[in-house]
Amino acid sequence: MNKNKYWLFFVALLLLSGLGYCFGFRPSKKIDVFDIKNIFEKENLTPILVIGSGPAGLMASVYGARGGKKTFLVEGNKPGGLLMDTTEVANWPGEKMIEGPQIIEKLRDQARHQNVYFMQDQVDKIDTALWPYTVYLESGTVLHALTIIIATGASPRKLGVAGEKNYWGAGVTSCAVCDAPFFKGENVVVVGGGDSAIEEAIQLSPFAEKITILVRKDRMRAADSMQSRLTNYPKIDVKYNVEVREIVGDLENVTGVKLYNNQTQEIELFSTSGVFLAVGHIPNSGFVKKNIRTDKDGYIMINHPYHETSISGIFAAGDIADKIYRQAVTSAGSGTEAALDAVRFLDDHEYSNQVARQVASQLYSAKIRWPQAELLSISSMTELQDLITSNEEKLIVLDFWTETCSSCKQLLPLIKEISQSFADTILFISINADKATDLVEAFEITRVPTLVTLKKGAVLDQYAGFLGKKELHTYLEKRLSEANLKGYDSGKA
Ligand code: NAP
Repeated sequence: MNKNKYWLFFVALLLLSGLGYCFGFRPSKKIDVFDIKNIFEKENLTPILVIGSGPAGLMASVYGARGGKKTFLVEGNKPGGLLMDTTEVANWPGEKMIEGPQIIEKLRDQARHQNVYFMQDQVDKIDTALWPYTVYLESGTVLHALTIIIATGASPRKLGVAGEKNYWGAGVTSCAVCDAPFFKGENVVVVGGGDSAIEEAIQLSPFAEKITILVRKDRMRAADSMQSRLTNYPKIDVKYNVEVREIVGDLENVTGVKLYNNQTQEIELFSTSGVFLAVGHIPNSGFVKKNIRTDKDGYIMINHPYHETSISGIFAAGDIADKIYRQAVTSAGSGTEAALDAVRFLDDHEYSNQVARQVASQLYSAKIRWPQAELLSISSMTELQDLITSNEEKLIVLDFWTETCSSCKQLLPLIKEISQSFADTILFISINADKATDLVEAFEITRVPTLVTLKKGAVLDQYAGFLGKKELHTYLEKRLSEANLKGYDSGKA
């Protein structure tokens, strides 16, 4: 090869590696500095840190703890994950029929029994430059993790059509189990052709008058067994070859959807007051995309048959790393495998029982734990009016919830916890929307959870949907500043 050829070869190599990098073909980044001495100078150590609290995360934490390693679990913004929105599950081992939230409760109990340390928090980012890895939580806590198991699952996908954003919470939703009771006697549509679409339609059937499943192809993707369940529900219709192009309404609520028929190329305005989305899921990997290899759809890539990611000591399990099986039981199984991998990693890197004893005082433990306050609970306007009169100097925040709403159950403990920080300025009141008809009507509550903020009896703000701890904090501080009220004691946060 003459000199010019060398140059050409060199430039071509550079171009190819640049292109490869752009398209995500990054070399696996293996950290080779796993010197156990590194851990002796760190605080807030977590030998196994599980992120996510669905079946994958919970089973990973059970196996991590059973493997003799202190295991911590960061629950995330939606504790329990997607199973919390599922009703009947007929394919959980050993159970003929069990509710999704019951599965989660049983797994949580099992994890608690193994002394897994639960943290009501969310991971903001992970720094993988040095081992142990630095993990930044939403609350400001910084952890040093020897191993991490990512089990953050996937979140419901949206359609991205006109009207979807405007009418979100005013007829558009992705949680039938939460919002179905607000559609009594109404005509509603479910968009999607998978198992979730059928599940949502069935959840709606005790309430809605008519349910139409809108499928974009000429067949459903759902399992045959799920499709055959539909024959028991005469209220449910399926409309094929239709794509939702727009969600329309009267500025307050949804009144219909514009449907494009991809066979006839015609557009039809289909009347409906509820649009329930069941169009698949997007993996929750945004917080690690910069340092851990994902595929083009955002699923974390693992080194089969093990669960290790592109970073040694970091593992992934459940829907975040699985676009094929995505069952509760396969998630639980993969969580188990990931935990066995993490335990083996610790054993292989000299994290012995003796070392564990040596660093016991450096393990993470919450410094201050405020006892959870019980919230005042009311069910009528008369009770509310009395409280408004006797609390003129405070804001009043009403939390509307129902028994069947999983995100309400997740929000409630956060409100209880945070209520102490705002005790001087905000009175929090819990209202079961199923039992307080006059309050539901007065505040025009159409979905739960909904927070209504009152100042001297007048509505200052109304927010429908779930808020994480940090978001809730910011939300309340904003309401206080709007009301020109100060006095929030940040020292208690
Ligand atoms: P999925 O199987 O990915 O199905 C998503 C559906 O949405 C597909 O029919 C897809 O249509 C449709 N879709 C996607 N984008 C769309 C758009 N823009 N407009 C209209 N339709 C759109 O998701 P899933 O139903 O949520 O199920 C996820 C996993 O959970 C599956 O493994 C499922 O078996 C499991 N699951 C099980 C149960 C149960 O056993 N009880 C219940 C729920 C879920 P195409 O088919 O045309 O792509």
